[in-house]
Amino acid sequence: MIYDAAIIGAGPAGISAALNLKIHEKSLIWLGSKSLSGKIARAERISNYPGFPNATGEELQQAFLHHIEVMGLSLTDEMVNSILPMGGHYAIMAGSDFYEAKTVLFATGTVNTAVLKGESELVGRGVSYCATCDGALYRGKTIAIVITSPRFEHEANYLSDLADQVLLFAPYKDCGVDMSKVTVMGPMPAAIEGTKRVEAVRCIDGSVYPVDGVFCLRESVALSTLLPGLQTEEGHIAVNRAMETNLPGVYAAGDCTGRPYQYTKAVGEGNVAAHSMLEYLANLEKQGK
Ligand SMILES: Cc1cc2nc3c(=O)[nH]c(=O)nc-3n(C[C@H](O)[C@H](O)[C@H](O)COP(=O)(O)OP(=O)(O)OC[C@H]3O[C@@H](n4cnc5c(N)ncnc54)[C@H](O)[C@@H]3O)c2cc1C
Repeated sequence: MIYDAAIIGAGPAGISAALNLKIHEKSLIWLGSKSLSGKIARAERISNYPGFPNATGEELQQAFLHHIEVMGLSLTDEMVNSILPMGGHYAIMAGSDFYEAKTVLFATGTVNTAVLKGESELVGRGVSYCATCDGALYRGKTIAIVITSPRFEHEANYLSDLADQVLLFAPYKDCGVDMSKVTVMGPMPAAIEGTKRVEAVRCIDGSVYPVDGVFCLRESVALSTLLPGLQTEEGHIAVNRAMETNLPGVYAAGDCTGRPYQYTKAVGEGNVAAHSMLEYLANLEKQGK
């Protein structure tokens, strides 16, 4: 099935858009964490959200979850790895799942994980964000895994069963990856090197390790690599006042479009984006598409 809309991200922007699209009875696939954006529950006190004076982040999170349930909405609990234009609609890859939608909303927040030098250039040529999608290509080969969160440890374990040799870069404490199958690296990676394909990882101390592939397992994938051709400006998605991006049927809302990073701005932009998506869908319908 081709959905009317795909929403990526479960923060205030995504929630606002999902509610509005649901009210207008559009078919919707919503990709993101079932417990919503960590930036909601983490706030100590919120004093600028109308109707919730001095709420804690957890109170706002509960109110959002209640609203989502009442409206009969649901989330997939999946991270999107890549999106591809399909000539009129979009294909969305999330882990081993694949969805299609006529419109796409980026409500992905800010990308705060640094991208390695050379990473964007080598995506699909040895750089991967998805163990399930690409792991089998590296059976018996040497790979590097850059992992930034325990959420991805099962993917690292899966890869270490397939690859011959795994160099593990894990810059956080108490990493739960099965250490018997990997070489734990000290210096962190600075760059991915290669001309036609990935050839090596260069570390911050200048040491170079030849590898066949690099898996970057992190919470957010850089916007520029998630959907090829998506225009960005200083790290944010470029949009107009209708929240349209440079690509037809693709919209963005919330922190990912720029400052100020605020709940109410995200909610407002999610609402505007949803209405623009409705207009776009109505036009498609008029054209019999
Ligand atoms: C500690 C703290 C306190 C704050 N206090 C306030 C406050 O008092 N008032 C205020 O107005 N603002 C506050 N903020 C800012 C506020 O949290 C953000 O502006 C707001 O959450 C932005 O909403 P968003 O929907 O744009 O993005 P986010 O809330 O960041 O949500 C984006 C979601 O998209 C998900 N995502 C990203 N990439 C993918 C992908 N590839 N696939 C699937 N999902 C993806 C992310 O995991 C995340 O869950 C605070 C922020 C923090 C961290």
